[in-house]
Amino acid sequence: MEIIIGRDQQTRKLCINKEGKPFLYGKEGSVPMNVSRQHLAMHPNIKGKWLIKNLNEKNVTYVNGINIESKIVSEADRIELGESRFPLPWAAILEPEGETVDISPLKKIWDDYDEKRLQHQIAERKFNTTRSITGIITMLAISCSIILGHGPIYICLYAIAIGTSVILTYQAYRKSSEVPNQQRDMNKIFQQRYVCPKCGHFMGFQDYEILRQGDACPFCRIKYKK
Ligand SMILES: [Zn+2]
Repeated sequence: MEIIIGRDQQTRKLCINKEGKPFLYGKEGSVPMNVSRQHLAMHPNIKGKWLIKNLNEKNVTYVNGINIESKIVSEADRIELGESRFPLPWAAILEPEGETVDISPLKKIWDDYDEKRLQHQIAERKFNTTRSITGIITMLAISCSIILGHGPIYICLYAIAIGTSVILTYQAYRKSSEVPNQQRDMNKIFQQRYVCPKCGHFMGFQDYEILRQGDACPFCRIKYKK
């Protein structure tokens, strides 16, 4: 087997050509011009080792910071292409052809999160209702004072109104001050769990169904099992 590494002329992505099957890696424009279109050849050597060779004498390649023409390396070595020292992405090279990852366990994680988020929204609405109720009670007490005058019944009603308002406001305040903490913890746990099974990158606050419509992990490019 032979792998040719170089710069794709059109997209300036890294071209990893495994036995005539090119695969473009990375972002458009990410590979510097001093990486040749055919820069480096890689041949498997003894287990876990590779023989790498510059394909042209003008090409510059570094292994652990040392300029080489050809060398036997392993994935523990840092290989950089061209004077701009573009790092060779070992993960993309070692990944066996056609490897897929099963993302179906992420469905439950998303559903749980979505459910909790909904509960939080309902709770928040309840707090807001409580706040409006305290306003209504105060208004009723004022209305009573107009109708009934400032007699003993009014004083009694007013005391009840103020008492209830204070209790309700306190309860609403206590609960609403807990909500941001709970939401922060919930988001944190979600971000730790809703990750690519291969590279561990957080998949974003994105509905599982939308995620599944994609083809591959946007971070490590591994294809989803369909
Ligand atoms: Zn990934």
